[in-house]
Amino acid sequence: SAPAATARPVATTVPGIRKIVAVASGKGGVGKSTVAANLAIALARAGNSVGLLDADIYGPSVPTLLGISGRARIDDGKLQPVAVHGIKALSMGMMTDPTKAVIWRGPMASSAMLQMVEKADWGALDVLVIDLPPGTGDIQLTMAQKLKPDGAVIVSTPQDLALIDARRAVAMFAEVGVPVLGVVENMSGYVCPHCGEASDPFGHGGAEAEALAMGVPFLGRIPLDIALRRSSDAGAPATGANAAVFAAVAAAVGGRVG
Ligand code: ADP
Repeated sequence: SAPAATARPVATTVPGIRKIVAVASGKGGVGKSTVAANLAIALARAGNSVGLLDADIYGPSVPTLLGISGRARIDDGKLQPVAVHGIKALSMGMMTDPTKAVIWRGPMASSAMLQMVEKADWGALDVLVIDLPPGTGDIQLTMAQKLKPDGAVIVSTPQDLALIDARRAVAMFAEVGVPVLGVVENMSGYVCPHCGEASDPFGHGGAEAEALAMGVPFLGRIPLDIALRRSSDAGAPATGANAAVFAAVAAAVGGRVG
């Protein structure tokens, strides 16, 4: 298990939540939600009490990733995060009809995100992991300014287009004073399950080189792996080598907080 973190000032502004880590990406579809969910589970396995907030109001994927199909209950007027895989999770997808689109302007979506953090019954948390929507919009800015997270993890594929957007995400966090804890390279290399040949559909090592160039830590790489896609779609945590990478990322971003 991870060593206990040394005493540190509590930067978050939300009572009861000791640490907030945002997971961001410049671009959609790079595996940000997959990383956020598995990072939250890895932090819980390291002995922390962990919450996972799905701040992607328009395209929530945390319920699918964690295998939650029901609605979040309201007790004593407070939204109740759902307990699953050793963490607590809350998502817009637990409040709305999954077949209907959420058609809200930015301020309304930002306010929904804030309410899910500040007004829900999280109890005492060592870490709240926030799965942000892709890009650098209203929700990201409101999150950064109002919640003052301890740091952000950026997820990118090794591909140029994704990297350009990852750079924008890093620049945004620098501008609003949120420390970038590091970059995770996802979909990094592919090993054919049939012939065993290794290939690099999205290039290789790009995110690591970019992290170095930007002066932020490189936290690890996860291959394009059918097993991870299957477990994600089935609502189960990553296994094997991928779980080990997420454990290392968890140790790098906080280890044991509580
Ligand atoms: P984002 O949050 O960036 O939009 P998701 O985490 O929702 O991305 O991932 C998009 C899709 O890619 C999902 O179906 C997910 O299971 C799959 N996926 C993510 N990372 C990997 C990976 N390393 N290998 C295989 N499939 C992956």
